[in-house]
Order: sequence, then structure tokens, then C-alpha cells
Amino acid sequence: MKFSDSSDEAAGYLRQAIPMMVKHNIVPNPLNYTLWYSYYSKIFPSLNTELDKTVERYGTCPPDVSETLFLEHINHLDNDSRDKLVLFQKQFSHVVDDLSDSMDHNAQQTNGYSQALMENLTELSTHSLDEAIAPVLNKLSANASAICTANKEFQGQLSAAQSEINTLKTELENSRKEANTDPLTGLFNRRVFEANYNQFVNDKNNQGTITLIMMDLDKFKAFNDTHGHLVGDQILKYIGQLLKKKCQDPVIPVRLGGEEFALLCPHLDLEQAQIIAERIRAKLASMPYSSKRTGEKIPPITASFGVAQKRDDESLSHIMERADQALYAAKNEGRNQVKKAAN
Ligand code: GH3
Ligand code: MG
Ligand code: MG
Repeated sequence: MKFSDSSDEAAGYLRQAIPMMVKHNIVPNPLNYTLWYSYYSKIFPSLNTELDKTVERYGTCPPDVSETLFLEHINHLDNDSRDKLVLFQKQFSHVVDDLSDSMDHNAQQTNGYSQALMENLTELSTHSLDEAIAPVLNKLSANASAICTANKEFQGQLSAAQSEINTLKTELENSRKEANTDPLTGLFNRRVFEANYNQFVNDKNNQGTITLIMMDLDKFKAFNDTHGHLVGDQILKYIGQLLKKKCQDPVIPVRLGGEEFALLCPHLDLEQAQIIAERIRAKLASMPYSSKRTGEKIPPITASFGVAQKRDDESLSHIMERADQALYAAKNEGRNQVKKAAN
């Protein structure tokens, strides 16, 4: 999916798309904008062929055909994977932003021209006019006022479309957040972890190092068995808050799944990351809890940590493997401790 056009290009496609939509009586909703924007940007050649055929046949593009064309040519391309869908949503939202700006600009400009035209005609009518010119002027005046009315109507449709666009953008934003966030702890999930890691290592301007901390709660199964799964969930939630609080930019904490967490530490070396892990370990180990239901005291939950710094040309899965081995060493040596993997 390619909607990487600049604002100028986007505005250019819009200037072509709007008159075409008006001419063929096509409702200016976000789906149709995307369709006709795509038509003028020529990113899906087969869509253009289909749209040409449809307009030739019906003189317009009926709503059900628009929807089918949208789903067939634009949406399905990126539906095959969640990542691509999120990318599509981002790009779509970007296009919609450009369109909204251009729509505002175009509407204001057209409104200005219409008003100026009406003022010119009013001024002209204050002068004494030749008999032959008067009826022409009347016709001109009627046509100009028809243009003004049509323009106002279209502006009304545009602002309705804009509010639809805004709703759509909010929905897209929410679904993007949902796709990136673990609902229980509110932490980012593995997807964000991998995306941030890849972004960091693929950025040619980044000369710095990157270190990974793996964290796993100790004996959490036994904790659940003793205190119940719901209390276990409360603990996970609390740990989510603690990690958010203790991890300052550029450290990114994520929940990998279950009772396992990871902290991505861009620009930090092994020793610096170890200090962060140690701080979190100590904080957790000193936090007693009490059951909301029974008031019963619950001893602190502890966690074990493995830290590994990226070696030259090492893949993410290999760093994770080394950090995991360090974590297992921490478990074997009695849990509630931080272990470093050899550099
Ligand atoms: P170890 O110290 O060796 O890591 O022991 P452990 O019991 O933590 O490890 P194990 O892998 O045997 O068990 C993990 C437990 O984590 C099992 C499961 O009940 C619990 N768990 C995983 N996800 C959740 C969750 O979302 N909520 C709750 N309450 N518990 C969870
Ligand atoms: Mg585990
Ligand atoms: Mg565990």
C-alpha cells in the first residue's frame, strides 16, 4: 500500500477528485474520498479500469459498487496480516489528514471567489446599463447565485464528511492502541518491542549499543494457587504500573506474555541496564501486599532477571536467548536476582 504522497501531491489529487465526485453525484464520505484519491494518484491501476467502466455504465458509482471496489482494491491488500493492516491504518489516517486540510483550504478559496463574484455583479447593477446588457446581467447574476448555493451545499457535505473522517480517525487510533497494548497491564506488547528493536538497529544514524533485560516472576504459579488468579492479575497490573514508573526514556518495558516481561534499553550498556534491573528487583522484593477481600498480608512477589547486550551482527532472537540463559542462571541460583550474560 502506497499513500506516501506529499501534501502538495495529495492536494492536487483532491482538486481533481472533488469536481469528479460532484459531477457524478458521489457522496463525499471517507470511503469515496479514498477511492477517488486512489484513482487520481493511480496507485491501483486495476481500480482505475473498474471505476472507468462503472462510471461509463451508470453515469455514477453506486454506493454498493464503491464499497466493493474499496474492499477489493484497497483494503484487502493489507488485510492479510495485522502488521500490514496497522500500516494501512497509519497511512490512511495520514491521507485523511492531508485531505481535511486541503478540503478546508479549497472550500475557503471557492467561497471567496463566489462572494467576490456576487459583489462585482451587485456593483455592476448600480450603474445604468444598456438595454441589451441588462438581461445578460440578470442571467449572469442568477447563475452566480446558483453557484453560491451549490457551493454552500457542497461545503455542508464536506463538513459532514470531515466529522465522519474525525470519527474514523479516532476509531483507527483506538484500534492501533489496542493492537499495541497488553490490556491487563497497559504495557506495550511484543509487537512494539520487536518494532522498536528493529527501528533502532536499522537506523543508520544510531551508532549506540542496545541492551535487553528479561524479567520473569518467581514461583508465580504457586502464588496463583495460594491466593487465586484474580489476586495474581492485580499483581501483574501493579507490576505494569511499577515498570512504567521506573523506566524512563529511552527504556521501553513490555509484557511478553504470562508473567514474563522485557525491557528494551537503547543506548544503554550491560552495566547501565543491570543497574535498572537491580532497582526494579529491589523495589518489587520490598513491596508487601494485602488482599483487598480478606485483608490478609501477602509477602512480596520477587522476580529474576537476565541482561544481555547486543553483540555486533547479533539477531534479536539470539540476544533474547542469551538474556534467557542469564535469567535461568538467576533462577537456578535462588531467584530474586539479576544475572548478566557474557559480552
Ligand atoms: P519460576 O520461578 O520458575 O518462573 O516459576 P513460575 O511458577 O513463575 O513459572 P511457571 O512457568 O511454572 O508458571 C507461570 C505461571 O504464571 C503460571 C500461570 O498461572 C501464571 N500466569 C501466567 N499468566 C498469567 C495471568 O495473566 N494472570 C495470572 N494471574 N497468572 C498468570
Ligand atoms: Mg515464565
Ligand atoms: Mg515465573
